[in-house]
Amino acid sequence: MPASARRAPSTRARGSSRGVAERATTTRAASSEKARARDAPTTTHYEFGGPIGALAITVALPLVCYFLAYACNEDGCAEVSKLARGGAFPGFPKHMPLWSVDGAVAAYGWMAFTVVAHAVIPGQKKQGVALPDGTRLTYKLNGFRVLAATAVAGAIGTKAGWFDLASVHDNFLSMLTAMVVLAYALSAYLYASSFAKGKTLAKGGNSGNAAYDFFIGRELNPRILNGAFDLKVFCELTPGLIGWLLLDLGFAAKQYARVGAVSAPMIMVCVFQGAYVIDALWNEPAILTTMDITTDGFGFMLAFGDLVWVPFTYSLQCRYILEHAVELSNAHLVAIFAVQCVGYWVFRGANSQKNLFRTNPNDPRVKHLKTLQTKRGTKLIVSGWWGVCRHVNYLGDWIMAWAWCLPCGFSHLVPYFYVIYFGILLVHRDGRDGEACEEKYGDDWKKYCAIVKYRLIPYIY
Ligand code: NDP
Repeated sequence: MPASARRAPSTRARGSSRGVAERATTTRAASSEKARARDAPTTTHYEFGGPIGALAITVALPLVCYFLAYACNEDGCAEVSKLARGGAFPGFPKHMPLWSVDGAVAAYGWMAFTVVAHAVIPGQKKQGVALPDGTRLTYKLNGFRVLAATAVAGAIGTKAGWFDLASVHDNFLSMLTAMVVLAYALSAYLYASSFAKGKTLAKGGNSGNAAYDFFIGRELNPRILNGAFDLKVFCELTPGLIGWLLLDLGFAAKQYARVGAVSAPMIMVCVFQGAYVIDALWNEPAILTTMDITTDGFGFMLAFGDLVWVPFTYSLQCRYILEHAVELSNAHLVAIFAVQCVGYWVFRGANSQKNLFRTNPNDPRVKHLKTLQTKRGTKLIVSGWWGVCRHVNYLGDWIMAWAWCLPCGFSHLVPYFYVIYFGILLVHRDGRDGEACEEKYGDDWKKYCAIVKYRLIPYIY
């Protein structure tokens, strides 16, 4: 049940029982608010380099997004050999403004479409994990249906000439600026609204330092529309993920418009990344047990990540292939396809095994797994995928990251930004989750680490 619905006085009370019921509800709500205030965790341990690191990342992330467009575009791609002469970067293409009405209309129009679609399209109802006060929130999950609605609306709109997907190329920078502005504005709203009464705060985002808390996110599950619209789950799954796919397809459409064909490397990246997006939306309930939803508050880190970083930097490979002809032999293409298949097999196998085990440990597909019983009450899997290393799902994800970059050929390092950045992110994320698990499980986590020795890559790390 949504937090606000839990707090709302009962409207079903009738006649003489009404006053008693209202008093009882008010007392419950008041004591629940007091409990929340009492239980509101104070952050005692900084991550990301503390307030200075958080502030630096808050400023730097948009600059990295612009830099990738500045360093690699239709006018050229970064060349280290020219660095000393100052000509290493092509700069922003002249006909691509940093801000335009068309770009703003496209970006905000897309956001408006997804907000309305998420609100009106029916979805499955799933309960999240237990909150600190023992209650669980119910989530509406309809990301896959929003994707389907986007496909239908896109087909109709394109046929009718209302919009041209290829225009994302010329509007790329101005759409980026529009979304950067939106991400800062949303984060400011999230920070300010987290001070309202009765909010459940994230353990890591309540340090009292404004720059740090703004970045990490104070409130765990901010909701609007009387609790019916969960902002974090919506942003995690819908506008950014589907927006990323649209950018990829837009670059493919632009290639078709330019040369009358879509190249094999472009098709590969679109298919691989499209499969990743579809997989995430098809397995939507799995998001509810991820660190982002269960542990992190909703602040700039996730808002910017979801709305800007994912679509505008993850689409770099398609943008690169559009601007730079890449030719690969059939043997290369087959090898890259094999890398993608292996990565997906590991990634999906591991995530599904854990989800299945957490949902129904008696399911025949996971019943045989060896486990470690913990004092916390839950079991940790120590065989199967989760016996290979502690974050074998990250390993699968990273293998796929290679398959998304390799179609860009070997002329430039810039399109390999994703696989490099993602490797760093996953090492850092493994460390964060390890610390969180040590806190959750205490000595049991140490026992688990003694059994499953490697973090991300068996026998290496
Ligand atoms: P996980 O799905 O790995 O969840 C970690 C949690 O799983 C732990 O806190 C613990 O929680 C539980 N757990 C850990 N080990 C075990 C075990 N042996 N047995 C049972 N439960 C265990 O992490 P994330 O939420 O970080 O990632 C989810 C997916 O999202 C991953 O595949 C990742 O690659 C992907 N991802 C992708 C990103 C991208 O930008 N493309 C960014 C970040 C993540 P508990 O015990 O409390 O249940």
